[in-house]
Amino acid sequence: MRNYLKHYINGEWVESTGSETMDVVNPATEEVMGRISLGTQEDLDKAVQAARAAFPSFSKTTKEYRIELLEKIAEEYAKRKDDIIEVITEELGAPLKLSENVHYNMGYSHFKQAAEELRNFSFIEERNKSTVRKETIGVSGLITPWNFPTNQTATKIASAFAAGSPVILKPAEVTPFAAMMLADIFEAAGLPKGVFNLVNGSGEGIGNGISSHPDIDFVSFTGSGAVGQKVMENAAKTIKKVALELGGKSPMIVLDDADVTKAAKAAVNHITMNTGQVCTAATRVLIPKTMKADFEAKVKEILPKFPVGDPKEENASGPLVSEKQWNTVQGYIQKGIDEGATLLTGGTGKPDGLDKGYFAKQTVFTDVTNDMVIAQEEIFGPVSVVITYDTLEEAIEIANDTVYGLAGYVIGEDPETLEKVASSIRAGQIRVNNAKTDFSAPFGGYKQSGIGREWGDFGIEEYLEAKAVLGIPS
Ligand code: NAP
Ligand code: MG
Repeated sequence: MRNYLKHYINGEWVESTGSETMDVVNPATEEVMGRISLGTQEDLDKAVQAARAAFPSFSKTTKEYRIELLEKIAEEYAKRKDDIIEVITEELGAPLKLSENVHYNMGYSHFKQAAEELRNFSFIEERNKSTVRKETIGVSGLITPWNFPTNQTATKIASAFAAGSPVILKPAEVTPFAAMMLADIFEAAGLPKGVFNLVNGSGEGIGNGISSHPDIDFVSFTGSGAVGQKVMENAAKTIKKVALELGGKSPMIVLDDADVTKAAKAAVNHITMNTGQVCTAATRVLIPKTMKADFEAKVKEILPKFPVGDPKEENASGPLVSEKQWNTVQGYIQKGIDEGATLLTGGTGKPDGLDKGYFAKQTVFTDVTNDMVIAQEEIFGPVSVVITYDTLEEAIEIANDTVYGLAGYVIGEDPETLEKVASSIRAGQIRVNNAKTDFSAPFGGYKQSGIGREWGDFGIEEYLEAKAVLGIPS
């Protein structure tokens, strides 16, 4: 039982000024695994004060100092590897291997990458007769979701630290522990007091508190579109800059020259990885009509190799994060059935033998049209839809017929067609033939998938303001 009832403010763990607590549940067992305090406005104000006090000196530290700091953080983070893997599996229900290869590793990579980016980053630029300086934006408020507890916290924090910005983090209440572990890691790395502050709490309380706080200069939010809107509204009152990483309904276009096994494997991977709770998941699979039967047969053959089960077991796919998420996913599966789509695999209810835990059936719908709710709305679970097309133009049109624009995927061989698809999908990241993750490449959404970019130098830029200095000869 993790009784983590304190907040981390100004370099120490401090009692909450409120008395409200919340139980954190292990989604694989439905048992309470820990407890946190729900912070108050007073807790948040203290954290903001600490960050403001740290701002003058931290924002003036040298690039070399911050490179060393980020390297040291990565080193300390690596020392906690086993603890991080364990806690993510417990709070999120991620399979152990995924917790290691994806969750743990993404956090590590963002700290390393930020150090790497800084080496080549220029905070000063001569332009005509003027100087452009990039200066720290101020104090940053960070609000993160539960689906990638270390990735989303680390990318924001690493960029903020690289830019010299002290932060206040509010992690998702359902997965707070991996984030809390970061405080000890930063302390061990020698981070100055007040540069990292963490206040646990609800979205309504601490989340709204951050987005509307007059002494926070910038808010970086990852989560749902509905909450993103609220963050923007609150931020508008003090003309606060916001960066929003929101949802997606990303298309995967399978070209007519694609290997059908490769395509089916990719489609299956998108619903099994993190139990489909991935904002960039390819949940609309567009295949040529002529390939439909072969593709469906392959999906049915491959999917059973990734059975749902206890995340502590080898090769199992885990549960959904919470009962709430389980109910949402069930609602969408029922909706798909009601809309007249065909269930190729899965359906409503729990998989056989898994009555305890928020396990859902891996569900693939076929005979789907893009106007169906299951093709338009983000489900955030192990559910995908297969839509057929006749011509490439039609495929591209369907791919773009969405309010989202986070990611896009294409599987096929002909280089010219791959390029054409990559340049036609209106989304922030296009992956061709399962290309590997690149931590130096920008990450973020077009359209309602968000505003701004994270990762690499693009991520650092978000935490900086440009200042033009005219009239001082260089
Ligand atoms: P969510 O409900 O929007 O919550 C995200 C975070 O915002 C949580 O910390 C939440 O606090 C907080 N929050 C809730 N209400 C708030 C408010 N009024 N003001 C400020 N903060 C508030 O999203 P979720 O259910 O955790 O995560 C799933 C969503 O995130 C999906 O839509 C997914 O696509 C999106 N996502 C996007 C990306 C990306 O990079 N584009 C990555 C991952 C996930 P609580 O702890 O109280 O819930
Ligand atoms: Mg939520």
